[in-house]
Amino acid sequence: MTEKTHHDVIIIGAGAAGLSAGLVLARARASVLLLDAGEPRNAPAAHMHGFLSRDGMPPAEFLAAGRREATAAGATIEPATVRGIERRDDGGFDVTLAGGTVEVARTLLVATGLKDELPGIPGVSERWGALVHHCPYCHGYEVRDRSIGVIGGAAREMSLKQAGLLRRYSDRVTLLTNSIELTPAERHYLGAFGIRIVDGTVSRLSGEVDGPVAVSLDDGHSLECEAVFIAPVPRPTDDLLRSLGCEADPRTGLVAVDAAGQTSVPGVWAAGNVVTPSAQVITAAGAGSASAIAINGWLLQQDIVAASAGRQSA
Ligand SMILES: Cc1cc2nc3c(=O)[nH]c(=O)nc-3n(C[C@H](O)[C@H](O)[C@H](O)COP(=O)(O)OP(=O)(O)OC[C@H]3O[C@@H](n4cnc5c(N)ncnc54)[C@H](O)[C@@H]3O)c2cc1C
Repeated sequence: MTEKTHHDVIIIGAGAAGLSAGLVLARARASVLLLDAGEPRNAPAAHMHGFLSRDGMPPAEFLAAGRREATAAGATIEPATVRGIERRDDGGFDVTLAGGTVEVARTLLVATGLKDELPGIPGVSERWGALVHHCPYCHGYEVRDRSIGVIGGAAREMSLKQAGLLRRYSDRVTLLTNSIELTPAERHYLGAFGIRIVDGTVSRLSGEVDGPVAVSLDDGHSLECEAVFIAPVPRPTDDLLRSLGCEADPRTGLVAVDAAGQTSVPGVWAAGNVVTPSAQVITAAGAGSASAIAINGWLLQQDIVAASAGRQSA
């Protein structure tokens, strides 16, 4: 095990949140190391939408530009998976990488995102991000006026919300209830709003991978859709935060942070999808920036206290 250089800040995860924080901190002249496992959440999508001035940009191009800007300002970015973190006696953190290397930091920003747990319906994962979507704000506009199937799933409220939202984009929206039991009131509201309801269990998606999609039901019926929306279960990648003892919000179960991303553990911040599953790219980037500014203030405070203690003892 080799101990490497000490950093002011280690940022774990170099997606929108981590890179944005890395840029702000590097420009503030902090020494910043970003460690990234290279699996950004929106990688399956060909284009990213809703980011002012970047609408339609491929996600990989967006991240490449962010990496260029952060490294030009002085940040270091390394491909690495963080396996564990431990508090040091000096108040900092030992960050252990998958290969056993240990990096040391005074403070941490965890921006590790989340994993979308897709329903186990055959044909979904191959089309995820291309013909199968989850976010009307990200891809609803691209499928406007097309025939859209919404497949009910484990995240029930999200499925109902999707059906309602998507009706604003198309007058051909079908909710395939799948595992969802609708109340009579819900059936009434959905029907009155022009959403077709098809009961039954979805058994598979088929057709050419670039569309259209045949959505097959257990009872032998099939519905052709030009786009399909599902409601994956978001699983925040927050094991590192929890292992450090960061408290969760009892209402949401998510690791709790303040407005700038500070957790309950001093010196540990978190930003983006890891603590806010609903964050879009632009809001994840904004959260990273807010955390960076708070972290830099915290470092400055520590430095002033240390300098004044040194002067008193001299
Ligand atoms: C298919 C799809 C399409 C989407 N389209 C859009 C869109 O058009 N517009 C939009 O605004 N939003 C879109 N989103 C949402 C978008 O992906 C998120 O808002 C965004 O990725 C959040 O950024 P983040 O930095 O929090 O996480 P991420 O971008 O997921 O970055 C987290 C990074 O941390 C790394 N990491 C995780 N664990 C570790 C570890 N232990 N060690 C080191 N690194 C680690 C990961 O590999 C990853 O690179 C889409 C999502 C999906 C699933």
